Amino acid sequence: MILMSQVAMMSRPVAGVRNKTVIVTLPGSPKGAKENLEAIIKTLPHACQQAAGADSRALHSGGVKKLEQEAGVTSTHGTSQPQGHQDRHGHSHSHGHDHGHGHGALVRHTKPGAFPISNDPARGPTWRRRESPYPMLSVDEALALIQENTPKPSVVTRRVNADLAGAVLAEDVGAGEDVPAFRASIVDGYAVVVPKDGNMTGVLPVVAVSHAAPGKVKPLKEGEIARITTGAPLPPGATSVIMVEDTILKTKTSDGTEEKEIQILASDVKEGENIREVGSDIKKGTTILRRGDQISAVGGEIGLLAAVGVAEVEVFSRPVLGVLSTGDEIVNHDRPGALQMGEVRDTNRPTLVSAGQEWGYRVVDLGVATDKPERLEETLRDALRHVDVVITTGGVSMGELDLLKPTIERALGGTIHFGRVAMKPGKPTTFATVTVKNNNGERVTKLIFSLPGNPASALVTFHLFVLPALHLLSGVSPPGLPRVPVKLAHAFPLDKARPEYHRAVISVGGDGALSAVSTGGQRSSKVGSMKGANALLCLPAGPEPLSQGARVDALLMGPIHTN
Ligand code: AMP
Ligand code: MG
Repeated sequence: MILMSQVAMMSRPVAGVRNKTVIVTLPGSPKGAKENLEAIIKTLPHACQQAAGADSRALHSGGVKKLEQEAGVTSTHGTSQPQGHQDRHGHSHSHGHDHGHGHGALVRHTKPGAFPISNDPARGPTWRRRESPYPMLSVDEALALIQENTPKPSVVTRRVNADLAGAVLAEDVGAGEDVPAFRASIVDGYAVVVPKDGNMTGVLPVVAVSHAAPGKVKPLKEGEIARITTGAPLPPGATSVIMVEDTILKTKTSDGTEEKEIQILASDVKEGENIREVGSDIKKGTTILRRGDQISAVGGEIGLLAAVGVAEVEVFSRPVLGVLSTGDEIVNHDRPGALQMGEVRDTNRPTLVSAGQEWGYRVVDLGVATDKPERLEETLRDALRHVDVVITTGGVSMGELDLLKPTIERALGGTIHFGRVAMKPGKPTTFATVTVKNNNGERVTKLIFSLPGNPASALVTFHLFVLPALHLLSGVSPPGLPRVPVKLAHAFPLDKARPEYHRAVISVGGDGALSAVSTGGQRSSKVGSMKGANALLCLPAGPEPLSQGARVDALLMGPIHTN
């Protein structure tokens, strides 16, 4: 059915014929789709005639020239014609579908997101689906898709200072210097040259003083001692340091201001006693930190880098987050005056901005978008230029104004990897990626998490899904909240159908065991259920409550309480 020359360009967009239908697939980009369609539109009547069963011998009797004339196309043998998506971008059709080029048969496999399955908001509420078309995934399946579709972390060079806290090293770091860099005293006392028998008792002259300060120290001989302070360099030749506590001042200089002779009480002094040898804390050339190590805020790692004089390190860059609330009813939380009927104060934005910052990420406040498709699209497009991960809340339920999925799929050309998760709260949680061009013209993948609007759902799904992605993007391993086993302090009801992430307070008892107390009512709209919560209990679905003392896993969001 495919013709030669000009008509042959149908081999790209025409995937095949099924029964009497010509199936045309176009590239996902609006430009590519338009070009391909323009290229074939005039030949479509001929294709349809044939597909409908016309006698092809009679149809083709006049040859290709005649057919082209009838169709109003001229033969150029394909060289100056629009080439479609493939050649301009140097790769074959994007958006995950694969055609059998030039074959009569349709060969296509689709990945999620290849075709929009979201509602088309332009068609109004009567057309919306009455059940979500997105498959219901388990939490683990959803997490696996996040892992699979989150880009690898990128590497940046950063100066070593307090701002480095939270960063993850992208390189092994070696010590370029010995610590200490010189032989140093561990105590305040006297540097000595220990005789063979180790017996230092006797009265000896103080011939020099060494303070912890840069400078030269003159050598010491047996029978002489030098006063030395903690951390000061040893005089060359000294073999040990005697603590000031093991000595007695015997004589002073004539003006009474200086020590002249000291009696040493130590009888069994070993060589090297009270001395930090060169490199005894950190040996030059050893690896002090490894790729993947996180620089903690408590200071251990920064201290290590500082001690050996590392001024800059390569770390994984940390993604920038944007937080957007959606909904016509949402007003700024601090808007003065009473609420009008239907208005809701924006609870999610301040909550998520603070949670993102607490985990060490820069957060851009994207404000509130109303439930207008154009407004939402514009806000998201702009956000995707400035941030790596966009979090939206609201607009993912089943209402006709739930615009997130359609906007991501239809307007932004994004891929929705999941749009429904079997969990409570957080069922409509949606995860998508969008490819955009950055300022250098490179194609980069940005993430969109569209979280449910109810405040408790939003915060639970932030910790469960967004945080692992942030961790993957910044090299933190393992990604996500730490998991610890806990004992239930009281019975917990279970949801019959869905596993639940129950907000709870974990504290450590006198026996060292961790126990969990519920924060109370768990309705997803109940923001108070997050108050004081330091953990999400992973409760299975089940018909009966879990009894007091049962063991479950808890995901820790904050420090464990001590009683
Ligand atoms: P939606 O998914 O947009 O239907 O929202 C579900 C529920 O969450 C509705 O009751 C919304 O009013 C509420 N909601 C949505 N966004 C927010 C927000 N930023 N702060 C507080 N409540 C919200
Ligand atoms: Mg809404």
